[in-house]
Amino acid sequence: MAFEGLAERLQGTINKIKGKGKVNEQDVKEMMREVRFALIEADVNLKVVKTFIKKVSERAVGQDVMKSLTPGQQVIKIVKDELTNLMGGEQSPIKFATKPPTVIMMVGLQGAGKTTTTGKLANVLRKKYNRKPLLVAADVYRPAAVQQLQTLGKQLSLPVFALGTDISPVEIVRQALEKAKEEHHDVVLVDTAGRLHIDENLMQELKDIRGLKEPDEVFLVVDAMTGQDAVNVAESFNEAVGITGVILTKLDGDTRGGAALSIRSVTEKPIKFVGMGEKMDALEQFHPERMASRILG
Ligand code: GDP
Repeated sequence: MAFEGLAERLQGTINKIKGKGKVNEQDVKEMMREVRFALIEADVNLKVVKTFIKKVSERAVGQDVMKSLTPGQQVIKIVKDELTNLMGGEQSPIKFATKPPTVIMMVGLQGAGKTTTTGKLANVLRKKYNRKPLLVAADVYRPAAVQQLQTLGKQLSLPVFALGTDISPVEIVRQALEKAKEEHHDVVLVDTAGRLHIDENLMQELKDIRGLKEPDEVFLVVDAMTGQDAVNVAESFNEAVGITGVILTKLDGDTRGGAALSIRSVTEKPIKFVGMGEKMDALEQFHPERMASRILG
């Protein structure tokens, strides 16, 4: 299970302070030492850990806690609040265009789960938001990607716009936007090219697609299992093309949690959804508070 190690460590630390009738600065210090260690072990970005510990410590040794009746519980609440804040605080909704179609660009590196997530998101858009999405196969560099999206479309009974792989992605998207207008699709979901590494060509292509019509959302799909690499990828994509949100995949695996806990602070972009499996219904909206509760038990 995801976050298992982190949850175990934090819950252990919490249990020590939970029943305390009085919490002094030394108690907080000791607890923070353990929390710091747990976060570092979970592969959380070091800067993020430092800021987090500072914030929690400051609040925990403050007047309120010292005077309260159940100081142990208060400290735990502070940790939970700050973990929630770390992951963005509030749940971040999808931004829809005031004038349809809403254009959502899916970007990411190969293998992150971009194509699968495009299918899953289309499914969510239809089921939960009652939209009529058009899927666009613009990943022309991985030949199997076009076919993969078509297969997913068939499975979901959703239309996929594809023109093969011998045509530029920009042209594909241009024609797809026309088709969306003609056929009254209110969301256009573009599966862009994923490459093995971030390179200039990839970024230029994404910028060119962006140039056709400013997307309402640019979702970066990253693999939660890759920890700090995912955070670095997010930073690079954000700097180069600008992203509006992150979708973390493979949270059903045994990821330590570093990506989920660091990405928001580092990129200042919210985690919108999390992938919880390979199936088409395995995409969940990301709720920072629920995630913090899960980690703290
Ligand atoms: P792309 O290259 O980024 O388009 O990646 P794909 O969509 O082809 O996904 C790569 C692999 O990751 C596939 O085997 C997917 O089934 C798998 N995958 C994607 N999302 C998830 C997820 O949330 N959980 C799990 N367990 N596997 C996933």
